[in-house]
Amino acid sequence: MSRRRILVSGGSGFLGSHLCERLLKDGHEVVCLDNFFTGSRTNVEHLLDDHRFELMRHDVTVPLTLEVDEVYHLACPASPIHYQRNPVRTIRTAVEGTLNMLDLSREVKSRILIASTSEVYGDPIEHPQRESYWGNVNPIGPRACYDEGKRCAEALAVSYARQHGVEVRIVRIFNTYGPRMHENDGRVVSNFAVQALRNEPITVYGQGQQTRSFCYVSDLIEGFVRLMASPHGVDPVNLGNPHETTVLELAEMIKRLARSKSEIIRAPLPTDDPTRRKPDISRAQALLNGWAPRVSLEEGIAATVEDFRRRLGL
Ligand code: NAD
Ligand code: UDP
Repeated sequence: MSRRRILVSGGSGFLGSHLCERLLKDGHEVVCLDNFFTGSRTNVEHLLDDHRFELMRHDVTVPLTLEVDEVYHLACPASPIHYQRNPVRTIRTAVEGTLNMLDLSREVKSRILIASTSEVYGDPIEHPQRESYWGNVNPIGPRACYDEGKRCAEALAVSYARQHGVEVRIVRIFNTYGPRMHENDGRVVSNFAVQALRNEPITVYGQGQQTRSFCYVSDLIEGFVRLMASPHGVDPVNLGNPHETTVLELAEMIKRLARSKSEIIRAPLPTDDPTRRKPDISRAQALLNGWAPRVSLEEGIAATVEDFRRRLGL
């Protein structure tokens, strides 16, 4: 495989840092661009000595030109507590940030992969979610800054592809977890793992009967790399693990794997919290040489809990 110079926006975040690592391992040069809003230098510290790795502090809402062969555009807060803290900034990041990354790709003729989300389906009426489903999103709810921001990012991406011939790939990422998630990230796996390891109450929102389908990070990154390399065009591709679980089952599993004494308690269900979510991954499987998630929930959660145990010194 030829060596390429690759830009990863949001590269020092959870997914971005795993992607940078993978791309370096594949022999490429990586420019990691981040404003450290939810990511941190620590996530990529172990890569800094590699001469093929460059870390740039930059906000994607500011235009930028850089000679690169490919762009993975991941920069955007992803956890509801972070993206709702400053909703206007979230929209700016999703919309203006994507616009700037598309302009860069157009100028230097690089292929660009856009990190979209299963949130574009909102609280889905169709189940499992296929890419053909247009979604059920509340345009004025507390999640709108993120959901609608990402929907607009997709619209921008397909428009740049049609109007300017930019080579676009769109990934709709379903809940992904794994080592290196931030302890204060606020998403369910990190919350439960930290609470369980500290023997603090595990906070299940609502009755815990809402479902998600959790994908281990290495499986997702494999899908990213395959999609970037694929001749497939602009149509979005779901990437995730179709194994569906309730939030309560997840809490029980994490408690067991962490050998925790925590009690499982109920807390209020956030407004517009999607009731169920599960990807239909047949498009990804057909297009990406039989790509499929390999890591089971039990295995992945065990590895994630052990990573938190080590980092928290527990
Ligand atoms: P994360 O919060 O760990 O990473 C996001 C990164 O983007 C951080 O390093 C942050 O500092 C950076 N960032 C935010 N705003 C920026 C800006 N304006 N300029 C430059 N950098 C900025 O979250 P993650 O889970 O790694 O998510 C990465 C991408 O994947 C996001 O676009 C997110 O929407 C998408 N996604 C993730 C999931 C998931 O389950 N992890 C699911 C769906 C979509
Ligand atoms: N959740 C929970 N307790 C927590 C954090 C989240 O019960 O401490 C629930 C949340 O209400 C949602 C699911 O877990 O139903 C996934 O939440 P997360 O914020 O991880 O992702 P998203 O809602 O964006 O899928």
